[in-house]
Amino acid sequence: MNLINDAWISVRRKNGEKIKIAPWQITEAIGTDKEIIELAAVRPDFNGAVIQFLIGLLQTTCAPKGNSDWRVWFNNPPSSTELKNKFESIVLEFNLDGTGPRFMQDLTIEKEDPKVETVERLLIDWPGEAALKKNTDFFVKRNHRVNLCLTCGVQALIAMQLNSPEGGRGFLTGLRGGGPVTTLIVGDTLWKMIWLNVLDINEFNSMACFTKNDKKDLFPWMGETRKGNTHITTTQDINPAQIYWSMPRRIRLIFKHSESICNLCGEKTEIFIETFYSKTYGVKYKNVAHPLTPTYVKDNDILSKHQREAVGYKFWSSYVYGDSDGQSNPAKIIKTARGRHIDDIRMCIFGYNMNSNKPKCWYEGVMPIIFIDNETQWKHYNAEIAMLICAADMARYFLSKAVAKALNAGVFNTVRQRFWQETEPEFYRQIAFLREEVIQEKDGLDIRRTWHKHLVAKGLEIFDDMSQSEMIGDVNAERVARAYNELRRNLNGKKLIIDILGLPKEGGIRVS
Ligand SMILES: [Zn+2]
Repeated sequence: MNLINDAWISVRRKNGEKIKIAPWQITEAIGTDKEIIELAAVRPDFNGAVIQFLIGLLQTTCAPKGNSDWRVWFNNPPSSTELKNKFESIVLEFNLDGTGPRFMQDLTIEKEDPKVETVERLLIDWPGEAALKKNTDFFVKRNHRVNLCLTCGVQALIAMQLNSPEGGRGFLTGLRGGGPVTTLIVGDTLWKMIWLNVLDINEFNSMACFTKNDKKDLFPWMGETRKGNTHITTTQDINPAQIYWSMPRRIRLIFKHSESICNLCGEKTEIFIETFYSKTYGVKYKNVAHPLTPTYVKDNDILSKHQREAVGYKFWSSYVYGDSDGQSNPAKIIKTARGRHIDDIRMCIFGYNMNSNKPKCWYEGVMPIIFIDNETQWKHYNAEIAMLICAADMARYFLSKAVAKALNAGVFNTVRQRFWQETEPEFYRQIAFLREEVIQEKDGLDIRRTWHKHLVAKGLEIFDDMSQSEMIGDVNAERVARAYNELRRNLNGKKLIIDILGLPKEGGIRVS
């Protein structure tokens, strides 16, 4: 199987039809009801892996020279024949099987006395022995014996190399750590979804050492693996392309030629994967940023961000702006999107919520992005937004405390989730107004006042709702009344109004 020439990617057309295509077919039938709208893999983490495969493929073979060059394909997508020709140069590097180099698999492992593992271990959420005992396997059905078809096998392989969690001594985490967050610009067709996330060549080249041009500098499986027990691999050791084609795990799939049913997609297959060779110390990456992942600096190291709770506007600043002193940065693609002046854009955020080496769940969320061109105004805008988010977080804290007091029980998760969700639409409405205010050099005070009123109203509404819920049963009315009064005082108090929102003591705001 060849990952450029063969049809292995499940997609959905505009008319609802689900088909499998080869990568070069992504632009087929654009403008008709058969155009390809989205990926349609059997698992959401496979969709996450395949979209990064496709972005990586375009980034590696078709990076635009600059904004105007990028815009040409954005407005007039290339034909599938044109794409096929572009991908031709790397067909040999994308063989999944065969005796030579194989896509994302170790070249020499068979000579080095490897361990043979069962294929379910390629799935990140497959429970290890400890998890089985504790019954904490989250989203894979237990099965005694698992067979994967080649299509599911390759998606599991990519997902593992991209997200590789800590796997015990010598089993290294991925280039961005275990289960990183990925932020993508959203497009309304598969083509746009890919092309919106491809950087200009110069920007991409700046991410590693573009003069390193041996095949194995781009695709680490094209030579002997640069092993992590003897080498640390930094941006100086790799071509930027390797950021998309990283190989922290030494894996080589074992193919069986016989009829079987795939345990993931349920399709009949003539060749299947039941086991794979495995060995410790794949490539150990350090200080390598990824174009699609926000980063932060810790002890002079550049680290990728990971998401530990549901995606919501609380993280807007972190994913769109970072901070003003450069310690926290959005993914490079977000900065690029700002320079491309695309109207009305949204960002999709996804990844695993990892608890050390175990995934708690897969999360996905979409948020609007609003940019301002002028650098000073952009900074001002983000400072105002940080204030609004900080105020919301404080209101959420007061609310959680009050509900817990009223019910004499800890319900922090439910309160937190409801509060962020229910204040979200107003947040996006206000930051759209705020953009206009900032551009007109206004102070944003009106927005802050409106936002404060909204937080108070929502806080009290959620409190009422939760403290009177019939599901709670025995409610102590006096305790509820005390908690309510305290919440009102806190929401209208100095801390929120003056210390955080910086509102002046005037206009009927009662400050306790
Ligand atoms: Zn399958």
